[in-house]
Amino acid sequence: MKLSDNAVKVLEKRYLEKDENGNLLEDCDGMFRRVAKAIASADAAYTDEKGLAAIEQEFYDMMANLEFLPNSPTLMNAGRPLGQLSACFVLPVEDTMEGIFESIKNAALIHKSGGGTGFSFSRLRAKGSAVNSTGGVASGPISFMKVFNAATEAVKQGGTRRGANMGILRIDHPDIMEFISCKSDNSEITNFNLSVGITEDFMKAVEHNLEYELLDPKTKEPVAKLNAKEVFDIIVEMAWKNGEPGIIFLDRLNRDNVTPKLGEIESTNPCGEQPLLPYEACNLGSINLYNMMDDSHKGLDFEKLENTVRKAVRFLDNVIEVNKYPLPEIDKMTRGTRKIGLGVMGWADTLCALGLAYNSQAAIDLADKVMSFISDIAMKASQNLAELKGVFPFYEDSIYDQKGIKVRNATTTTIAPTGTLSLIAGVSSGIEPIFAISYIRNVMDNSELVEVNPVFKGAALSGNFYSEELMKKIARVGTVKNMNEVPVQVQEIFVTAHDVLPEWHVKMQAAFQRHTDNAVSKTVNLSHDATTDDVREVFTLAYKTQCKGVTIYRDGSRDLQVLNIGKVK
Ligand code: ADP
Repeated sequence: MKLSDNAVKVLEKRYLEKDENGNLLEDCDGMFRRVAKAIASADAAYTDEKGLAAIEQEFYDMMANLEFLPNSPTLMNAGRPLGQLSACFVLPVEDTMEGIFESIKNAALIHKSGGGTGFSFSRLRAKGSAVNSTGGVASGPISFMKVFNAATEAVKQGGTRRGANMGILRIDHPDIMEFISCKSDNSEITNFNLSVGITEDFMKAVEHNLEYELLDPKTKEPVAKLNAKEVFDIIVEMAWKNGEPGIIFLDRLNRDNVTPKLGEIESTNPCGEQPLLPYEACNLGSINLYNMMDDSHKGLDFEKLENTVRKAVRFLDNVIEVNKYPLPEIDKMTRGTRKIGLGVMGWADTLCALGLAYNSQAAIDLADKVMSFISDIAMKASQNLAELKGVFPFYEDSIYDQKGIKVRNATTTTIAPTGTLSLIAGVSSGIEPIFAISYIRNVMDNSELVEVNPVFKGAALSGNFYSEELMKKIARVGTVKNMNEVPVQVQEIFVTAHDVLPEWHVKMQAAFQRHTDNAVSKTVNLSHDATTDDVREVFTLAYKTQCKGVTIYRDGSRDLQVLNIGKVK
């Protein structure tokens, strides 16, 4: 096993099976065995005992070699009584008291099992509208979001993870202005990421400086007008202030909705990478590209990548089969469309190892090449599975039926953030640039331990410029840019999230999005002194380059930041 101490710590704390006294019942290897066995069992109907053992071994090897990892709930719950294996859910929020509280209850059940939930609040009537049954007035979507938030807060005490939500409101909802600024005070609605659901019509109105209509959610009658550019500017201003709200392009999510007859896509999961229909769940998995390089680290081993993609698709499709869904409606929808989301992690580390700067055209070209390859093979793998195991049950309601392409899964690719997975695999997360080349960790006896990106450490050792002192200096400064002790060529390759100009962040997101069925999780990092114009440019570029949404974060704009250059504890 190649797991780092940090990875083992995380796994022991939250992923490994324990008895009621907290004693470990398995080690990390045991976890991968448990998961491989549970997921392979879905193949029992299609092969003999020997075949099944071979599939189980393949699944085990892929995880134990850190070539592929499924999303956290699968690692935590596969082969255990809870058995809930998906990270992503979208729940509908109906405009009735019963509907709203039903949704809160369902979200609580999902959070308890380690999944995250997304909601569109766009169907709720506006603040101040009449409530027929009581003669009172409605309190509006934002007030109900606070109830969802409080429920999440309470559940997090007892669950496996702290619970995460996405809240979406359409740009034409009458309460949109309240929504846009509802997180300006960061102490409220803390368990939600917020995104404004933007339409193509709205973007055109922004471009031409026109007014647009706010619509009654029920009747779709216009109730007011706003100037699109002014609203857009306020979104920009709020995002500049503290990174929220993000934006998602609803029409694009629905343009790529492969089962439009089943309904409209109104929301994504919490981190934005997985658009889903109401009551749909999706399980994700990520290939560690760093372990897909050829032995000499000159390029990617495409044969190995192809094999891994094929095995990963089979794995993720099996997850749908053995998954225990928290609600009958979710069971029906999820088994009906059989969506899976295969993505990547360790991208920035791979680029560094290959000697390519993240902010270079060569890196973008390679992104196009790698992701189109993965998407192509994933599609073929899903077609092969369809021959063996059948197409997804709602196939007739899909665009694939019209095209005559038989697939087992309505979608196959998604780029997840891989927050914990990348930590377990010991690589850079998702497709993000390296966050810090080195950072200082304060350990218990008040001494300082410097943690160095392993790829950089390798380069420093082989280039004869490694010293503990230099690594500490890099941790304090936060970049190797213009640092004389580091060769210029190395400075150019080892760029961090803050060295990379925002437009390159967006270009990289767009490159992966071009070959991804679902969406891409990405945060465009801006320096503290970035202006609102910079934010506007990022939003506009993301729109123009066909991204499905965009999230920005300006360094230091929130008081409580998860990662701080130079002072990570
Ligand atoms: P991981 O690395 O743990 O598998 P990711 O960081 O890739 O997870 O996140 C993937 C998705 O998992 C998120 O978009 C969200 O739907 C869900 N998720 C992540 N963190 C949480 C959490 N703390 N609580 C609930 N769901 C979560």
